Amino acid sequence: MDSTPTPTQTPSAETPSAPAPAQRTSPSANASPETMRALIKHRAGEGLALDEHRPVPEVGPRDVLIRVKKAGICGTDRHIWQWDDWAASRIPVGIVTGHEFVGVVEHTGSAVTQFSKGQRVSAEGHITAGLDYNSRTGAAHIARDTKILGVDRDGVFAEFVSVPEANVWPVHDDIPDRIAATFDPLGNAVHTVMAAGVSAKSVLVSGVGIIGLMGVTVARAAGASRIFCTDINPPRLELAKKLGAVEAFDASQGDHWIDEVRKATRGEGVDVLLEMSGAPTAIDEGFRALRNGGRAALLGLPAKPVTFDFNANIIFKGCEVLGINGRRVWETWFQMEELLLGGRLELDDIITHEFPIEQYEKAFETMISGEGIKVLMNL
Ligand code: ZN
Repeated sequence: MDSTPTPTQTPSAETPSAPAPAQRTSPSANASPETMRALIKHRAGEGLALDEHRPVPEVGPRDVLIRVKKAGICGTDRHIWQWDDWAASRIPVGIVTGHEFVGVVEHTGSAVTQFSKGQRVSAEGHITAGLDYNSRTGAAHIARDTKILGVDRDGVFAEFVSVPEANVWPVHDDIPDRIAATFDPLGNAVHTVMAAGVSAKSVLVSGVGIIGLMGVTVARAAGASRIFCTDINPPRLELAKKLGAVEAFDASQGDHWIDEVRKATRGEGVDVLLEMSGAPTAIDEGFRALRNGGRAALLGLPAKPVTFDFNANIIFKGCEVLGINGRRVWETWFQMEELLLGGRLELDDIITHEFPIEQYEKAFETMISGEGIKVLMNL
């Protein structure tokens, strides 16, 4: 679907970003258009709407304007689509949604030095000023002032997105667009697995949705000895086995799977729990299946505060608990690139559908119904 009126596409070699003449796009012969197609949260209610005449974002001196090629639909976008309590309390109506993407540099601000027109890029969607305690001590992924693309500021379900140069990530030539479009969730999985440390360890992945499935292939690549999975969706459990899980348990059938996991692990329980579901029952059962002194990395987000047995599950168990947010910048990104370049990850069965952006309703329906796993839209 490359027939949309996009800006002039010149070969990248010809324009290294020399001192840029202007900081903002101005209408001249080969300048970018002034308006674009964008999927916006048009009202405080269900759905999104396609705006054909959204102004192209402004490009400050340190910003990079990226022409989006592929964008992934995330669970976050589903919340925004469905307009649940979280979305209603967080999302400004009128925003361009979406945060998972790959694209090509279209235009650079006057102070940008590392990127030039035509370069394939993705970006870290968590944007910070880089000046708070955590940003200055190597933990920018938990910065106090984080603004998220497509949540707090205009995102990537649009022909163009403007991102600070400090957040732009060059995509390696050997990594295809459809994979690069999933760096954001794949980075969540890589961050969770690497924070937990899985080498030569037994691992339970609790919840094999998109990121849980990615967690299985990442954990396998990172040297987990045996991977167990739980979910309530039989086809996803089958896929988890295909991706390397030794056992995949249907948790809708009760909690006796915990006994089986214990039996398989000297009566102890697994070394590592990767909690990817956010479901209260799964969290409780996951901790019960964790051995004393094990490590739990929690990525799944419960919809509301949960009741939890701290005594049995954490204190007497003496386990370590890690909260996982976003991706470590840029450690996670380098790890992810290494795993991909090493051919260690199996993502073909996880990235299941692609639709042109005009068919966004079908794309969301495919994702929300569970028929698709990772669904991409082409701009
Ligand atoms: Zn996402």
